[in-house]
Amino acid sequence: MNLEGGCACRGIRYKLTATPLIVHACHCRDCQRVTGSAFVINIWIERKFVEVGRAVPKSFRLTAGSGKHHDVFFCDTCGTYVWSRYHIAPGDTLFVRAGTLDDPTAVRPDVHIFTRSKLPWLELPQGVPAFESIYKIEEFWSPESKERLRRDRGART
Ligand SMILES: [Zn+2]
Ligand SMILES: [Zn+2]
Repeated sequence: MNLEGGCACRGIRYKLTATPLIVHACHCRDCQRVTGSAFVINIWIERKFVEVGRAVPKSFRLTAGSGKHHDVFFCDTCGTYVWSRYHIAPGDTLFVRAGTLDDPTAVRPDVHIFTRSKLPWLELPQGVPAFESIYKIEEFWSPESKERLRRDRGART
């Protein structure tokens, strides 16, 4: 799986050196606004597996629906949003925008979240789990991803 990508002007380049923990399609209003689109495809992955090239993205801070901070990282030349960091999310993890992959067919959403603000003309695919808001990691993630997250949280303290 080639998980390299970058921004529109190619100033920012990155490479994911592990598979995603999980891939979200998020239909929340913040993701709609920040992307200017119907939803965002986010690759949830440990920060240590995101190798960044020479140019480092800038960020600004939003307050997420949870009340916790949400830092949005973007290229300060072309304005492409490349990833987010949600302070409520466990571990030292990032949410990489799958639309910035060189090959965005490399991943597909494991789950659709915040479908309560999904645009009404958009039909979700059959057989892919969907949640009105968010799910519980403990109940939903694969054992392998839960174990990776557990290790990441351990390494941080
Ligand atoms: Zn750029
Ligand atoms: Zn969202």
